Amino acid sequence: MRADLHTHSHRSDGSDSPAELVRAAAAAHLDVVALTDHDSAVGWPEAAATAREVGIGFVPGIEISCSLRGVGVHLLAYGVDPTHPGLAAELMRGLESRGQRLPAILARLKELGIDIGAEAVRAVAGPAAALGRPHVADALVAAGEVADRSEAFDRLLSPGRPAYVLRRAAPLREAIALVAAAGGVSVLAHPFARGGRRVLTPDAVRALAADGLTGLEAWHQDQSAADARRLVALADDLDLVATGSSDYHGTGKLDHDLGCHTTPAAQLDRLLVAMAAAATAASRADQAVMPEPPVGIAVVR
Ligand code: AMP
Ligand code: ZN
Ligand code: FE
Ligand code: FE
Repeated sequence: MRADLHTHSHRSDGSDSPAELVRAAAAAHLDVVALTDHDSAVGWPEAAATAREVGIGFVPGIEISCSLRGVGVHLLAYGVDPTHPGLAAELMRGLESRGQRLPAILARLKELGIDIGAEAVRAVAGPAAALGRPHVADALVAAGEVADRSEAFDRLLSPGRPAYVLRRAAPLREAIALVAAAGGVSVLAHPFARGGRRVLTPDAVRALAADGLTGLEAWHQDQSAADARRLVALADDLDLVATGSSDYHGTGKLDHDLGCHTTPAAQLDRLLVAMAAAATAASRADQAVMPEPPVGIAVVR
């Protein structure tokens, strides 16, 4: 059983369509793939339909940009109802803040003598719902200003670099509560990558587990083998699920091939059980105030 639980399509900053991504997952001998675009669920129907066609399992997810003590932390939300009003409003705020950040980044670049228009960014972003720094990076590559996305981040777009612009992100604890209210489960994405390590101390993760966090992404290209061991030990200690994934972005990120890290079968089973329980709990809570049963989200296996 090979399950890759964190990937991006061109609906955010990946380069494959959801259908292409799921076909590539089947070709990479994955049994289960999750689509977890940034702040958006728009790719799910296409991915789920293709998964049914090619006969692999599909887990719907969203990677939500959150903040904890001023540091950006990514939260994987699996099995949520993206139409849940509270969650939908939060995702909309995220997408709006992405839209507002873009002109600010372009203004900074202009001060540095690099003039690319918003149109150039929209052109490389194609059908993306979530506009991000990777798209600005792609526009910089297209304009011949940098060689690749990495150079764009390292020289210009990463925190501390001259064209970095902070944007609003959901407070992490609130996001975990919203994900639960929307019938899903929360897994911290690459907790020890970039700034996360500083704020996601064992005590902080213990508090998040008490707040309803379900899992930690242990196996990930941006985390060392020692990091993975530490995260698995922490997950064991706190009775959290430990996941692994590629964080595939198509041609948008090197060395993140589909299936380069996977989630062990026993951990996937625990995650699916937690998802079923979360969906039931949320629908019970909804039924207390709403006569209509909420729309269920199918996990295709
Ligand atoms: P944004 O959503 O606009 O804040 O951009 C965040 C995304 O940029 C991450 O999810 C990664 O996909 C990508 N990213 C962040 N840092 C780098 C980097 N140093 N090189 C390439 N891509 C990066
Ligand atoms: Zn991304
Ligand atoms: Fe991430
Ligand atoms: Fe990601």
